[in-house]
Amino acid sequence: MNNVHQKYSQGGDFVISPISELDIFTREDFSEEHKEIYNMVMDFDKDRVLTQKKEIESYNPELSKKLLDEMAELGLLGIDIPEEFGGIDLDKITSAIVAEALVYSPSFAVTWAVQTGIGSLPLIWFGTQSQKERFLPKIASGEIICAYGLSEPSSGSDAMGAKTTATLSEDGKSYILNGEKVFITNGGWASLFTVFAQLDGKLTGFLVESGTEGFSIGAEEKKLGMKGSSTVALNFQNAKIPAENILSTPGKGSEIAFSSLDMGRFKLGCSCLGGSKMVINRVAEYAQERKAFGTSISNFDAIIKKVADMTVHTFTSDSMIYRTIGSIQAEIDSIEKSDENYLKKMIGAMEKFAIETSMVKVYASDTSQWVIDEGLQIFGGYGFLEEYPLAPAFRDNRINQIWEGTNEINRTVIIGFFMKKALTEEMPIYDAIQDIEDFLKSNDLNSKDELLDKECFSLEMTKKGFLYLFNEALSVFQQDLQHEQQITELLADIMTNIYNVESTIIRAKKMYAKSQNIQAINIAKILTSEMVDHLTLSSKNICNYLKGHEMKDDSEKFLNEIISKAQLDTNTIDLKRNIAKHIFKEGKYPF
Ligand SMILES: Cc1cc2nc3c(=O)[nH]c(=O)nc-3n(C[C@H](O)[C@H](O)[C@H](O)COP(=O)(O)OP(=O)(O)OC[C@H]3O[C@@H](n4cnc5c(N)ncnc54)[C@H](O)[C@@H]3O)c2cc1C
Repeated sequence: MNNVHQKYSQGGDFVISPISELDIFTREDFSEEHKEIYNMVMDFDKDRVLTQKKEIESYNPELSKKLLDEMAELGLLGIDIPEEFGGIDLDKITSAIVAEALVYSPSFAVTWAVQTGIGSLPLIWFGTQSQKERFLPKIASGEIICAYGLSEPSSGSDAMGAKTTATLSEDGKSYILNGEKVFITNGGWASLFTVFAQLDGKLTGFLVESGTEGFSIGAEEKKLGMKGSSTVALNFQNAKIPAENILSTPGKGSEIAFSSLDMGRFKLGCSCLGGSKMVINRVAEYAQERKAFGTSISNFDAIIKKVADMTVHTFTSDSMIYRTIGSIQAEIDSIEKSDENYLKKMIGAMEKFAIETSMVKVYASDTSQWVIDEGLQIFGGYGFLEEYPLAPAFRDNRINQIWEGTNEINRTVIIGFFMKKALTEEMPIYDAIQDIEDFLKSNDLNSKDELLDKECFSLEMTKKGFLYLFNEALSVFQQDLQHEQQITELLADIMTNIYNVESTIIRAKKMYAKSQNIQAINIAKILTSEMVDHLTLSSKNICNYLKGHEMKDDSEKFLNEIISKAQLDTNTIDLKRNIAKHIFKEGKYPF
């Protein structure tokens, strides 16, 4: 077996590293400071946001701005801003914690998320000293609200196809921008916009200030949800941007745009996690209070299953999210702050985890939408009424599967990066595949009887199954595999399941070692069993297709042998009853 061990896996290499060699960060590893910030934000959200939620959600820019000011006073607009520019420069784990804790008004949460994320990160990471001195202290204090303008009427997912142009004026003192941006969050309230335009055919970033001649802001869009946030179009008609407002150098736009999005989509996942937990809290109470057929609906097995499943997938989102940010933070911590290339290396550290941040975005947003849908179902007819919590949540959360890269685009990112690593041999994927036969011969489940050992074994087999299946598909289609999206989506989901199961097993074991938490173990068991079911079905579908394209019968036989070793005989029905019982007893999401 090749030694591919690293303490923290990165960029998808968890599929070739054995689980036993890994350590991960979990929320149980939060420092005292992390816990204090989490509680502080939860208190702020409850006292200041929840109490004014109706006004915020009915669109009240003054109130939203006032609340941003209050967050600034708590330092919460400057978490990622260096101290020399008025911020408090805390670790990335803290950014995740704040994003998770702001749950009560999704519109306000997104106003904050853009201010501290895609709206300001391009400047923090790529701005000049004088640009930072000019704008960052005011962003940290809330005096400047910022926005990020990438999407255009004819290019959303295809961001590189932006048509807005920038040309250098004859005197070289300004750039002239022409074009339109659409769907810009915070746009109606912002006074600083990071805008991307084609300069000599290359995407380039610019800082655009409100009041710039030739730059106008459109009317607020009427939306399905997030009604308290601002979403507008931006118009540029010979808008004259001072030459010193270019971000970094000409042609750097895609790097600026995508590195900020990596972090933006990760924080979106954190916010979805907070939302999922809140739904379970509501459901845990409601299901016990609501009576039907003379008993509480929490006694019905169908409701029990829903509550357990919601808990399993929320726990999983949590495990993958803090594993990912812990890995990113460990990478950042290994860079000297005094290094003159600190920022560049920090961005590089985050880019290493582009596969993982895309997985977080897809899984946490799909999970929260599904959790809300199940929660709504548990509320029955009341779930459909606006005055109950699930109807607005259903509408507000839906956007999370669309923005910061749609979930379809993020699935192509997951498998696209992995393909690149395989084809360039950056990762020893072929060596790992060569080792499968030996692995099958030398590993036997019978000898294992410790906690979650069966699940660990099943996970290792699933990794082998994934690698084998991926390699078969890649051998058939080579580069063109990227166009076979029905296959790549299945592969991206298998890969995500592997990451999730591994994160959940390791976390559950840590929790059990510390406090004998058996429910975390039950969750890991259910999740692993579901992973194998998904692999079995996906593999069947992919093989049925590949057989029409050169895949050999022997290959399918070998793959089935691997998958058969991954099979488990978990009694998921009883485990789910156990988990739901625990949730009802606690009256909330308890982890
Ligand atoms: C409320 C709101 C706020 C927003 N805020 C901002 C913001 O602040 N700044 C900003 O720049 N943008 C913002 N956006 C834009 C958002 O990021 C885009 O809407 C999103 O990226 C999708 O682009 P699109 O709407 O053009 O859809 P399209 O790109 O036209 O996609 C349509 C469908 O086709 C699918 N699709 C497209 N290409 C592919 C492909 N290659 N493979 C498979 N499927 C594909 C998509 O997944 C989607 O299902 C916001 C949008 C909304 C609705």
